Amino acid sequence: MSSEEVTGAAPEETAEPVLRVEDVVKWYPVREGTGVRRTTRQVRAVNGVSFSLRAGETLGLVGESGCGKSTLGRTLLRLDEPTSGRVFYRGRDVFTMSRRELREVRRKIQIIFQDPYASLNPRMTVGDLVTEAWAIHRGIVPRAQHRLRAGELLERVGLDPSFMDRYPHQFSGGQRQRIGIARALSLDPEVLICDEPVSALDVSVQAQVINLLADIQADLGLSYVFIAHDLSVVRHISDRVAVMYLGRIVELGDEEAIYTRPTHPYTQALLSAVPIPDPSQRDSVRRILLEGDLPSPTDLPSGCAFRTRCWKADDECAEEVPELVDRGGFGHPSRCLFAEAPAAAV
Ligand code: ADP
Repeated sequence: MSSEEVTGAAPEETAEPVLRVEDVVKWYPVREGTGVRRTTRQVRAVNGVSFSLRAGETLGLVGESGCGKSTLGRTLLRLDEPTSGRVFYRGRDVFTMSRRELREVRRKIQIIFQDPYASLNPRMTVGDLVTEAWAIHRGIVPRAQHRLRAGELLERVGLDPSFMDRYPHQFSGGQRQRIGIARALSLDPEVLICDEPVSALDVSVQAQVINLLADIQADLGLSYVFIAHDLSVVRHISDRVAVMYLGRIVELGDEEAIYTRPTHPYTQALLSAVPIPDPSQRDSVRRILLEGDLPSPTDLPSGCAFRTRCWKADDECAEEVPELVDRGGFGHPSRCLFAEAPAAAV
């Protein structure tokens, strides 16, 4: 299979992407029992994920809680060591590079977390938080300019620079996420991995933070991997969307294709749960209620992992994991033997 098929990239796009992720696997061993009866099982959190991230684009990564999104984000930067696979940042293999090279990559790829409060030291002022990394990565901003540049960063994220001497607890959730974004920007990154950055915020504040991230991207040309459990959150910021289920991408396509012509039953179920603002259109959408619980990642179903909750599944689905390919000529790949766009979309 060509890499274009796997990534959903158009064949003519041959330029090296900012990030190329190839068949990344991350399993966590779980030790149970004691002495000679001790057994080891594996939490199969990420099971062979491939995608590419182009300069200036946003890839939305969506799936229900526990499907491996955060693990994938951490593994890309080796914050968790990978089980296997390869990740290339600007063509350089992150998984085999030296500690020194890795430090540089971790400067260029920053993660923004769901709960910035947990990552903000409560005893540090906002000014110190925003300038902290400059002491570690020397040479980015001279000492004498720290306050000036910190003020500019706070302004960039919509905070008053006069807040510089305040502490994190004096800010609202949305403001704290802005501080988290300023910290990430302080290292002049190329890629932001936004891990559920708005999930803990009120809906109105969510939109403000997403708009801020979109403005920053337009200004600075950054590339984003935007992780969320809710398809409605990533829609307006994503150029492409990857839908994950139990550690695998099950469908990948541009924003328009995923939202109007989803072909994987799991994507269709997730989309049917998205609230529709226009009351006149509500009746036209069939709600799909997923039956059963998410299987345990220590004991994945054979073949297609979604088959235990899928209304289309038959014996064939238990045999092997379907490839991520475009089976029905829908223009984007999907891991379903019975991939089919909804009737209204065809
Ligand atoms: P998501 O971000 O999609 O909610 P996670 O990546 O947090 O999913 O988790 C994927 C699976 O991996 C879950 O079953 C979770 O319990 C498991 N997991 C995550 N981190 C660890 C760890 N350090 N040790 C063992 N299991 C883990």
